[in-house]
Amino acid sequence: MGRHSKGQQVSRQRGAVEMVDAKTLIAHVLTPDAAERGLTRGTYIATCAEVFKPAAMVAREAGYCPLCIPAQRSR
Ligand SMILES: [Zn+2]
Repeated sequence: MGRHSKGQQVSRQRGAVEMVDAKTLIAHVLTPDAAERGLTRGTYIATCAEVFKPAAMVAREAGYCPLCIPAQRSR
């Protein structure tokens, strides 16, 4: 669950990255900045503020994070 209210708007990020949570198999959206930071940390912080470890190999994701995706599809 994000800590922001539903009214938050995330402006469209150039080159937003989709990444699948290894534990829940839910795809989150990350900013390029967060994705880069995750490389060194080993954990990634999605736009919904979820902290997760990425699935190394996933046949298909179980679904999309409802908090991340609206920002992704704002257009
Ligand atoms: Zn998310």
